[in-house]
Amino acid sequence: MTSLVADVDVLVVGAGITGIYQLYRAREAGFSVQLLEAGGGVGGTWYWNRYPGAQFDSESYTYAYLFSKDLFEEWEWREHFAHQPEIEQYLNHVVDRFDLRRHIRCGAKVSSATYDESSGTWTVVAGDDAKYQAQFLVAASGVLSVPHFPDVPGRDAFRGESYHTGLWPTDPVAFAGKRVAVVGTGSSGVQIIPEIADEVATLTAYQRTANWCTPLNNAPITSEEQAKLRADFDGMCQTLNTSTHGFLHQPHDRVTFDDSKEERREFYEKMWNGPGFTKLTSNYTDLLFDPAANAEWREFIAEKIRGIVEDPETAEKLIPKDHRFGEKRPPFVTGYYETYNRPNVSLVDLRKTPIERVTETGIETAEGLREFDVIVWATGFDFGTGALTRMGIRGRHGLALEDHWADGPKTFLGVQTSGFPNLFFPGGPHAAAGNNPRYNGDQVDFIIEMLVSLRDRGYDIIEVDPVAEQQWTNMVDTWATMPPSFGESSYYFGSNIPGKPRRYLLNSGGRPKFFKEIARARTNDYEAFKPSRSGSPPSPPHPAAAAGAP
Ligand SMILES: Cc1cc2nc3c(=O)[nH]c(=O)nc-3n(C[C@H](O)[C@H](O)[C@H](O)COP(=O)(O)OP(=O)(O)OC[C@H]3O[C@@H](n4cnc5c(N)ncnc54)[C@H](O)[C@@H]3O)c2cc1C
Repeated sequence: MTSLVADVDVLVVGAGITGIYQLYRAREAGFSVQLLEAGGGVGGTWYWNRYPGAQFDSESYTYAYLFSKDLFEEWEWREHFAHQPEIEQYLNHVVDRFDLRRHIRCGAKVSSATYDESSGTWTVVAGDDAKYQAQFLVAASGVLSVPHFPDVPGRDAFRGESYHTGLWPTDPVAFAGKRVAVVGTGSSGVQIIPEIADEVATLTAYQRTANWCTPLNNAPITSEEQAKLRADFDGMCQTLNTSTHGFLHQPHDRVTFDDSKEERREFYEKMWNGPGFTKLTSNYTDLLFDPAANAEWREFIAEKIRGIVEDPETAEKLIPKDHRFGEKRPPFVTGYYETYNRPNVSLVDLRKTPIERVTETGIETAEGLREFDVIVWATGFDFGTGALTRMGIRGRHGLALEDHWADGPKTFLGVQTSGFPNLFFPGGPHAAAGNNPRYNGDQVDFIIEMLVSLRDRGYDIIEVDPVAEQQWTNMVDTWATMPPSFGESSYYFGSNIPGKPRRYLLNSGGRPKFFKEIARARTNDYEAFKPSRSGSPPSPPHPAAAAGAP
């Protein structure tokens, strides 16, 4: 039997970097709070993805929270791109440092959330039928939190050990001396492959799509750099809070063919040796727009791959032939290509020889059966909407969120969708397109600012105007296809999930578009969110919302 465990103003789902911040901001604003998390601990992505080699592609100090200078000063990141254990420790530290743990329940997977028309509240059921009541429901349930397994025959028949990178066990996995398969060479696959290659007996990488991998160029943070980071904290916040993609990297100011061949070569070397995402954020400004510019950068990377990988046939398999750089999420690597020079590592091209079935002992393709002790599924996630559409969310008149979004998500600012009053989903679809915490943090700040303003004015229900929602969604869809047909094969469009509508799931307007719209929402006293009082009809659409073109 369900029993009411808590009745709060703000109920947060998800203890990742977004949900923890949402919990903190809501409590600091004077709301009563509760957070529910499906996992056994806090950390979100950094709780679940504890496979060897899991680490940031964002610089540690730019990913971390910026709301407390004291916090920043007392936590010294060890590496420019921290590994999972340090990130999980950091998020646990934040939870304890700000006394948030008493508001968090782990092992509490939300299975239903139902809106009550008369009171304007949400009833949420989690875990063992525990019931929660809340005025506002904030689903910070993540965009990469529902692991995806490919539909290959016999996957459950395998009698060895098998793991998904996004569902990694808390007890360490022993790889030493074992025959290991890694299926998938996206961002997670290319992290784990070089990390375990030297201890396993054999490692077979199964690649469906070759990706444009470039070096992460990680390094420990020296004491001089630590001191500089501390001294520059305010300047760093200023840059991060206004940067288009939430990184410190500065955009370049030149287009490719303004430079001579030699200058381009020198610039590409600089990019190759630069940190993480600079290859995308600080490359020539026409990289994603001029096909010839993109082709030249790709040829530079292809040459690098041919130079590193000794077996020409393997090198050719590792060079993408079906997409441009930036069209899919580019992975960043440490020693990935070099791994294929090891005698115990081999690569299977699934485009040529697809998996026919998984047997009790291994994986069978047209090439025959290879036997394994361990299979690692590095096969990604149901990106963007996966967690929200599986939560049993029912809005006005019992409307199911998965039905409302049957053709893809519809949102305003990636924070609300019509028909679901008092529901917010920061860090969900249409939220980020760069360094995630900076975007998601903007959304959390906006949600709290709006809730406080509405509370002060005696409102308790907020529901976004369908007109504003349609305009924002149109903007996302339109901008996502510039340049034309760029990226539709990427999981950004849900393409890795059979049957999922091909709709863009990131925020193609970036932070500038978001900032512009929230400034307008403030000026209009949040009228695009149709504030009302429970028991009274919702206010009609505001003319500004109807007329405005996000
Ligand atoms: C391996 C990996 C590396 C990454 N590296 C980077 C990076 O370097 N930079 C970057 O910007 N982004 C990176 N990302 C993206 C990453 O997901 C985000 O940076 C960030 O973790 C998002 O935080 P979040 O709190 O919004 O979501 P999450 O961290 O995904 O947390 C969501 C939480 O909600 C919980 N949840 C979901 N559904 C329910 C439910 N029904 N009931 C209860 N709880 C639920 C989940 O268990 C999860 O713990 C990476 C992702 C992966 C998988």
